[in-house]
Amino acid sequence: MTRVLVIGAGPAGTRCALGVAKRLPGATVTLAGAEPALPYDRVALSRYVAGAVEQEALITHSLADLSAAGVEFRAGTPVASLDLPARRAVTASGKALDYDRCVLATGSRAVRLPLPGADLPGVVPWRDLAESRAMLRAAREGGPAVVIGGGLLGLEAAAGLAARGMKVTVLHAVGWPMERQLCTDSGALLADRLRGRGLKLLMNAKTEAIEGGDRVDAVRLADGTRIPARLVVMAVGVRPNTDLARASGLTVGRGVVVDASMRTSDPRVLAVGECAELDGRLIGLVAPALEQADFAAATLAGEAASWAPRADAAALKVSGTAVWSAGEVAPADAEAVTLRAGETYRGLWWRGSRLVGAVLYGDVAESAFFLRLIATGEAVASRAEAALGSAWVKDAA
Ligand SMILES: Cc1cc2nc3c(=O)[nH]c(=O)nc-3n(C[C@H](O)[C@H](O)[C@H](O)COP(=O)(O)OP(=O)(O)OC[C@H]3O[C@@H](n4cnc5c(N)ncnc54)[C@H](O)[C@@H]3O)c2cc1C
Repeated sequence: MTRVLVIGAGPAGTRCALGVAKRLPGATVTLAGAEPALPYDRVALSRYVAGAVEQEALITHSLADLSAAGVEFRAGTPVASLDLPARRAVTASGKALDYDRCVLATGSRAVRLPLPGADLPGVVPWRDLAESRAMLRAAREGGPAVVIGGGLLGLEAAAGLAARGMKVTVLHAVGWPMERQLCTDSGALLADRLRGRGLKLLMNAKTEAIEGGDRVDAVRLADGTRIPARLVVMAVGVRPNTDLARASGLTVGRGVVVDASMRTSDPRVLAVGECAELDGRLIGLVAPALEQADFAAATLAGEAASWAPRADAAALKVSGTAVWSAGEVAPADAEAVTLRAGETYRGLWWRGSRLVGAVLYGDVAESAFFLRLIATGEAVASRAEAALGSAWVKDAA
């Protein structure tokens, strides 16, 4: 009987374990997760912090579901080492888990900026449920919060904490928020809207230190400004969890290097999700992580599986805002077509007759249409008319 060990019970690991159990009914499938919780919806942590969902609603699979599907789940079981020739993983508590095939799904962790004071209690790099709960504890205690990072995650943290009654300042190193997903115009619209809702946004802000005694009490900027804070959330990016893979001798770049069938440099070990690196690229969204998990399960079942990235789309999950972006935003070598009507903005970037990137602000109803144009790379006869959206295309047909 084949023993398959999946390390990491985030979305990718859980999906892969379930996929393997389904495709290989005879296999023994073990899912070992470092976090003490049942598998949960990490994407929904933003809504949890904002008070829109309860903790119980985050859980995606109960123990009974997993067991009925043929997956033996071990919560609170960080794997500390991997012996590739012996095909043995050893947990932090010293328990050996022998396998025939292993899948690394160790995901990423939030970056903790190497600033003075970054380790003070009250400083939270945001990635998981425990960190979300720490943020909510601080919100209950009250006082001001500072979020370092005005990307998607930072803005979701800030809006959530504001909804919980905190006075929140967002510090962003660039001139407009979400600069990876938005152009300057749509970024300025979003910044205005968030400011109008009571968030303080400081752009081009250079954080120099975090101050405090036995707990954080302020953030100091390079220009000397001191912003009081009882909670500091770091949302400045993530780093793949590769320590385990690296120490075992697997090939690791920024992530665990895999081929398109999700195999690592050891053919018995696969890697999926945010910890995996294919052709020098990492992923940072849940949809491709789940796809990779399906491809890895297919590979383990002996099917020919070859994953290739598709166009990424991202949306901001802050109630009262509608912001969506896909593909390449404002690349230097593309031509822009922009439409603006009041609080609604549409930015589209074209190379010749092909759409390569899009930003929708205020009205995101056409997101599926533009994502399809980007993903398929289909040529469009009239860029100006296509910019009007699917209704025009239907009328013209
Ligand atoms: C607040 C928030 C909001 C987000 N919103 C969106 C969104 O709107 N859309 C979107 O597409 N993406 C979003 N993301 C990103 C999305 O959550 C990730 O892309 C997705 O979780 C990646 O899944 P993964 O399984 O690869 O990694 P992870 O979710 O990071 O899971 C990895 C798991 O492995 C565990 N682990 C690590 N090392 C070990 C070890 N040695 N032994 C055992 N277990 C280990 C970790 O504890 C973790 O539980 C959001 C992320 C956050 C934090």
